[in-house]
Amino acid sequence: MENFDIGIIGGGPAGFTSAMYYAKQGKTVVLFEGAEVGGTCLNRGCIPTKAFLHIADLYSELQGADKIGINFENLSLDFEKAKEYKTSVVSKLRKGLELSLKNLGVNVVNSYAEMLSENKIKSNDTEYTCGKIIIATGSKPREIKGLEYDHKFILSSDDILELDKLPKDILIVGSGAIGIEWARILSSFGVEVSVVELAENLCPLADWEVSKRIERQFKMKKIKTYLSTSVEKVDGKKVILSNGEELNPECVLVAVGRGIVKPEKTYNADIIGDASAEIMLAHYAVSQAKELALDIPFNKKTVPSVIYGNPEIAWIGEVSKSKEDDEKYDKSMLLISALGKAHCDNSTDGFIKILAKDGKIKGASIISKEASALIQQIAIAIDNNISVNELKKSCFAHPTYSEGIMETIMSL
Ligand SMILES: Cc1cc2nc3c(=O)[nH]c(=O)nc-3n(C[C@H](O)[C@H](O)[C@H](O)COP(=O)(O)OP(=O)(O)OC[C@H]3O[C@@H](n4cnc5c(N)ncnc54)[C@H](O)[C@@H]3O)c2cc1C
Repeated sequence: MENFDIGIIGGGPAGFTSAMYYAKQGKTVVLFEGAEVGGTCLNRGCIPTKAFLHIADLYSELQGADKIGINFENLSLDFEKAKEYKTSVVSKLRKGLELSLKNLGVNVVNSYAEMLSENKIKSNDTEYTCGKIIIATGSKPREIKGLEYDHKFILSSDDILELDKLPKDILIVGSGAIGIEWARILSSFGVEVSVVELAENLCPLADWEVSKRIERQFKMKKIKTYLSTSVEKVDGKKVILSNGEELNPECVLVAVGRGIVKPEKTYNADIIGDASAEIMLAHYAVSQAKELALDIPFNKKTVPSVIYGNPEIAWIGEVSKSKEDDEKYDKSMLLISALGKAHCDNSTDGFIKILAKDGKIKGASIISKEASALIQQIAIAIDNNISVNELKKSCFAHPTYSEGIMETIMSL
């Protein structure tokens, strides 16, 4: 029997962040991880996809580089090396994380665990008594009826990271962040991509003008989209859509969300991260961990959403679902092509849209290089109740994308 102040089941962002904050307070912490520390985010999610996206964006950019004076011959993609790069980024970060946990004195137990009672955890036939138990067991790819993963033809977001060679073509089911990011990666790698989405628009959770812009970008990249459509049936390697069309892709990526993972019994434990079934994002998990371990609350209405790739897509707070919806706000919109920096970077596609009411920002949607960083300026303004007029007093550096925020605000 071992005794600890804090026992945490699950070593993803929710689990490892809370472990670190508790350990920094001098608490004794045991962290159980059945697979690899870092969880989905580091091993199968945020990090590996962004490593691939980096290669995809660079490859695309270089294809048009002759227009800006960079000439070379025989540009080609070595997918094996690209995959090695992705794996090396993941393992470097995982080693760093393992070291940080060790240095902080967190006891990491590399095996699955279950709760025996409010204060007891069992793992590998050993019992641990803990003053407080936290469940941070995360999530896994959701499976839908008729599209069960066989890991060869029908792939999950875990499987796609482990492909040994690129398919000639692929059908992606679902156009949330995971579906859009993979459509961008694979299409830049030269794979013929089709996307099927049940909703009327791509990326249905985003602002309507964001959805429209992504649809336009996909059209330009020759990514075929089927909206208001679902997969009716898979028959061998034939995929029959609800509109009657029959497709024969080399494989299918199912990206229709995630299902929570939880031990059978959770007693009165605190449940954080994806397992809490609130917002399934790594930064939400980290904020929950901060709230729990350090008593620092956060605004659950201003959790930024980001879709990576070129250009980035980000939004926060309220989003408008139609032109009529826009009219409920003071709306200001700036095209990214108005910015000098965007022209220097040869990256002029996108916009900044800010929705305000009574002199305060209520929401923003941005499609631009660096949108992931820009959206944070809006988060700080909303969370701290900073008015549009107060924001106007800031001096924004030139030439930057941040100037776009300033220009958008100046029209409110
Ligand atoms: C392809 C993809 C891309 C993504 N991109 C982003 C992104 O760009 N930005 C973003 O914010 N989010 C992204 N996400 C979501 C993000 O990965 C999750 O929100 C985040 O990992 C949740 O953290 P967590 O700690 O709650 O759970 P997880 O990261 O899922 O970690 C849970 C851990 O618990 C372990 N575990 C489960 N049960 C037990 C048990 N009984 N005993 C011991 N260990 C157990 C699991 O092995 C796992 O390691 C992405 C997800 C995917 C799939």
